[in-house]
Amino acid sequence: IYILAIESSCDDTSAAVLCNNRTLSNIVATQKIHEEYGGVVPELASRAHQQNIVPVVHQALAKANIDKKQLSAIAFTRGPGLMGSLLVGTSFAKSLSLGLDIPLIEVNHMQAHILSHFIKEDNYNSPSFPFLAMTISGGHTQIVLVRDYFDMEILGESLDDAVGEAYDKSAKILGLPYPGGPLVDKYAQLGNPNAFPFPKPKVDGLNFSFSGLKTSILYFIQRETKKNPNFIAENRNDICASIQHTIINILMDKIKKAVKQTGIKQIAIGGGVSANSGIRQALQNAEKKWGWNTYIPKFEYCTDNAAMIGIVGYLKYREMDFSDQSVSAKARYVIGK
Ligand code: ATP
Ligand code: FE
Repeated sequence: IYILAIESSCDDTSAAVLCNNRTLSNIVATQKIHEEYGGVVPELASRAHQQNIVPVVHQALAKANIDKKQLSAIAFTRGPGLMGSLLVGTSFAKSLSLGLDIPLIEVNHMQAHILSHFIKEDNYNSPSFPFLAMTISGGHTQIVLVRDYFDMEILGESLDDAVGEAYDKSAKILGLPYPGGPLVDKYAQLGNPNAFPFPKPKVDGLNFSFSGLKTSILYFIQRETKKNPNFIAENRNDICASIQHTIINILMDKIKKAVKQTGIKQIAIGGGVSANSGIRQALQNAEKKWGWNTYIPKFEYCTDNAAMIGIVGYLKYREMDFSDQSVSAKARYVIGK
């Protein structure tokens, strides 16, 4: 089975070709234009997708060495995401499916972040059911109980900002360029995590909240720079380490709670923030300390990519779960709905 997959939910245009559950190619065009605005500008994102999509699909087919006539189906991200961005991928996928007369398969982007663990890679063992997935990305923070490929239940999620947003907004306060998450992580590794204590939010159950943390960081920085204008420059690593320490504690507290509540010790993470060194370290420690089995995808499958859309396409193809031409993009699209 050859699946062509298309992802265009936010600011990365991506196309991938899978042969069954293996990736033959996974091309990502990242849009640089948003850097100068300090965040994603939806209108510019859709225009860039429009420009990128044809060359990205051609590259994916060429690298996989597959002719479009060999394709078994087209999978695409239906949502959630930015409407203008989703429309580009959705329309493209529908047209191609019509032109080639092959099945069309819609994919939920958040489900794809979780199912990316089932892309077959040498030296990578996929989790077995049931497991807990923690999706930590630029738009979401979720703990999901995964009973089967398409039987998922959200146990908790952020009530306000996503964890990636918390990273990026903190980075902005420190004057770092967008997206600042990876930079905060880099400097954090050089600093003292206990230098500046930030309060942890009190949220019931398995839900999260990150907007209060951002505000307390902002007030803290404003107060300190009033006393010492060079405060950020002189303490950059310690500030980043303290922010990272607080965020990782928040995530680990909730996942520990979820383990206790469900008795499931298999934890799989996904989404851009799973590239973070702090969360990776914390999970490795948890394996040793509490006997968890943790699963961290390859870096290229953490951030937005079409291969993860392709694996869902393959799994749905096996079940003949196809969409018809009336399918439309869905900006808000909850897993399991
Ligand atoms: P969603 O999947 O919810 O729609 P998204 O696809 O835009 O959101 P991703 O591409 O999965 O988000 O992740 C991007 C986020 O990951 C950004 O906020 C970025 O700062 C963050 N990020 C990437 N690397 C790191 C890192 N090493 N440490 C912390 N954050 C990171
Ligand atoms: Fe994503």
